[in-house]
Amino acid sequence: MIYNFSAGPAMLPASVLKKAQNELLDWQGLGISVMEISHRDPIYIQMTEEAEQDLRDLMAIPDNYSVLFMHGGGRAQFSSVPQNIAGPNATVDYLNTGVWSDIAIIEARKYVAEVNEVAKVVETPEGKAIPPINAWALSKNAAYLHYCPNETVDGIALHEVPEVGVPLVADMSSVILSEPIDVTKFGIIYAGAQKNIGPSGLSVVIIRNDLLETQQNRVCTVMNYKVQAEQHSMYNTPNTFAWYLAAEVFKWVKAQGGLPAMAELNAAKSSLLYECVDNSKFYRNTIAAQNRSRMNIPFQLVDSNLDNLFLQQAKAEGLLSLKGHRFVGGMRASMYNAMPLEGAHALVDFMTRFEKAHR
Ligand SMILES: *Cc1c(COP(=O)(O)O)cnc(C)c1O
Repeated sequence: MIYNFSAGPAMLPASVLKKAQNELLDWQGLGISVMEISHRDPIYIQMTEEAEQDLRDLMAIPDNYSVLFMHGGGRAQFSSVPQNIAGPNATVDYLNTGVWSDIAIIEARKYVAEVNEVAKVVETPEGKAIPPINAWALSKNAAYLHYCPNETVDGIALHEVPEVGVPLVADMSSVILSEPIDVTKFGIIYAGAQKNIGPSGLSVVIIRNDLLETQQNRVCTVMNYKVQAEQHSMYNTPNTFAWYLAAEVFKWVKAQGGLPAMAELNAAKSSLLYECVDNSKFYRNTIAAQNRSRMNIPFQLVDSNLDNLFLQQAKAEGLLSLKGHRFVGGMRASMYNAMPLEGAHALVDFMTRFEKAHR
């Protein structure tokens, strides 16, 4: 059995891949693949409409929000957001919780007058933590507040939604569909697809319709929210295959019991691993309990000389991609929706045996 702990592109549900394999040469009885027909064909458009409806059902997205399927993954949104809804004279607020926030801030600086960092991660006796909202240095007239609820590289998460009186923009690339959320608290939710939705390159954008009207700038047309909303994300040719796979993943999540079922599974998997790390003097995790991610769990071997052996033996047992991000080192286990509970059990079982053999 192979369990793939890759942070992204990440594991997809096996049943989705099998269905795609079956349909590869003959989609919907057409005798050709989904990649080989026009995106304007009614049969393709019907698939995209079902995909949107399934996502709306899963996340309870209200009618006053548009759902866009765009190009360029997560990072394209780092520039799309400030260009579309702020502009050259605006001030915008960013919470800095780690690597992805940092990159989003650098990108936003190109398009607005001022990017104000409201707070960043601090060291506390309990570990790295996000300062409480009442300690954030919010600006008076921000066009929006941007944050990353789950920092994929750092394994740091903000589990409360900050309500600050300006449109809230969230990079949910590594946490979308992992638990129920209240979409009405957000102005824009966006996500690169390759963690919990499907293949890389696709991004899903959920935007409150009034924000489509804020545009004051010249925005590259494929990245223009208003144009893409009006054109049902088909201003130009979309990534038709990625959209099809995303549609299949949405159906899979629905069949699993939707987001409440995903939340339960993700809580169970992450608790298993954190318990293993916390009950050991051999492994450690340096994030304060209240800010621990349930998706991406970094951990270090106290003796880093054993890192390579750990990775080698894990791989030999079918536990793949546990090496931490090159920025932080150590290990990282990413366990998105597609990772079954058995995967977390297999990892913890291996870690326990490895510790016994080497402590
Ligand atoms: C993976 C990731 C991105 C980057 O996505 P790309 O599709 O590579 O641009 C951005 N933000 C977060 C939080 C991510 O996890």
